[in-house]
Amino acid sequence: MELLKKTISEKGKVLPGDVLKVDSFLNHQIDVSLLHEMGKTVYDNFSDCKVDKILTVEASGIAFACLTAQFFCCPVLFAKKSKTSNLSADVYTAEVQSYTHGVKNTIMVSKNYLSSGERVLVVDDFLARGEAANGMIELVEKAGAKLVGVVAAIEKVYQGGGDALRKKGVNVFSLAMIDSLENGKITFCR
Ligand code: 5GP
Repeated sequence: MELLKKTISEKGKVLPGDVLKVDSFLNHQIDVSLLHEMGKTVYDNFSDCKVDKILTVEASGIAFACLTAQFFCCPVLFAKKSKTSNLSADVYTAEVQSYTHGVKNTIMVSKNYLSSGERVLVVDDFLARGEAANGMIELVEKAGAKLVGVVAAIEKVYQGGGDALRKKGVNVFSLAMIDSLENGKITFCR
């Protein structure tokens, strides 16, 4: 998506550890009109697919997931990383290694909100090694729901997570595909 690539080029910053900082528009301060256009692009790509629910993980995927969900007219469910007192005891869980924090998190969703047969689109801000996406896919499978596809705003293609999912037959769609962050320079695949 050209507008997203332009915004990444202008506002993105490369941090040590292969981290692209996009918190001025995507996952801290939110550029709502950009995310609206991103959501529309996702909808156009999946418009022939029935989507009952969008699944993301807190916190950085939530804004993009919500602005995408408005086009599908479906709810957003976000997996939580800690058990809070208002989360029901009955949860599906998966273990996820956090890319940016380097720790292992148990992500969880209430069994009340993910049901057998539901058609689920997994949405996140980044796809790097695929840990977060695989964790969410595990939640979908544990619920007996059906995975429609995996969407990332930004895929760091060279880290392999997206291609591993594609090899398994998952429909992966990324709005901006990054080939390299070497020497602090952001290079897109196309
Ligand atoms: P993965 O699990 O695919 O290795 O990494 C995806 C998750 O890690 C996303 O949920 C995202 O929050 C975080 N992440 C991975 N790479 C980056 C990055 O370059 N920048 C930021 N801001 N987050 C990232």
